[in-house]
Amino acid sequence: MQDSELASPYWFPTMCYHCDNPPCTKVCPVDATFKRTDGVVAVDPERCIGCKFCMAACPYSARTFNFGRPEQTKFTEENKDSIPENYCKTGYGPEGTVSKCDFCTDRSAQGLLPACVVECPNGAIFHGDELEDAVTNGEDTYRLKELLRSRAGYRQFEELGTKPRVYYLPPVKRQFPFEDATEKFNTEE
Ligand code: SF4
Ligand code: SF4
Repeated sequence: MQDSELASPYWFPTMCYHCDNPPCTKVCPVDATFKRTDGVVAVDPERCIGCKFCMAACPYSARTFNFGRPEQTKFTEENKDSIPENYCKTGYGPEGTVSKCDFCTDRSAQGLLPACVVECPNGAIFHGDELEDAVTNGEDTYRLKELLRSRAGYRQFEELGTKPRVYYLPPVKRQFPFEDATEKFNTEE
């Protein structure tokens, strides 16, 4: 992302926001995608017929159509030990279905944090249960409400009424390499 030509570019990771009012689940003709009682918006690959209605309905482009089986999913009984300990499985569903971030529900069932939270080298991603008002990146733990208040947390396109469950914290004390950005644009011109 880049807010203007003279501002430094920055990363803006996006994933399924597990909206509390998700337009994606309402359009599925076979009830293959639904909101779980724990708040996770899930997809049942056994039911999904790959019609892509949910992809069109999601305003955040959070869903991916699985055109084929990526090489990485070809784990067998023999090579299963080579599976990375923490890897994001978004987009690795069965061919012809739609998949997306599922907040690593398989990991949370084992008391583990989502793979992206564990693997982020800067500890930039926090995860937690809103009812407990606590989020952690695996090292630091904060009160969610206090973090959002003190860091002016916001949600993407809140005006749509989708009630996303993922918040962003605007950068603070960041060193913006304005000169680098200016030089880059001058070079490209
Ligand atoms: S981000 Fe998109 S796919 Fe995820 S719950 Fe919201 S509308 Fe559905
Ligand atoms: S692609 Fe699958 S989950 Fe999405 S609307 Fe169609 S059947 Fe439902």
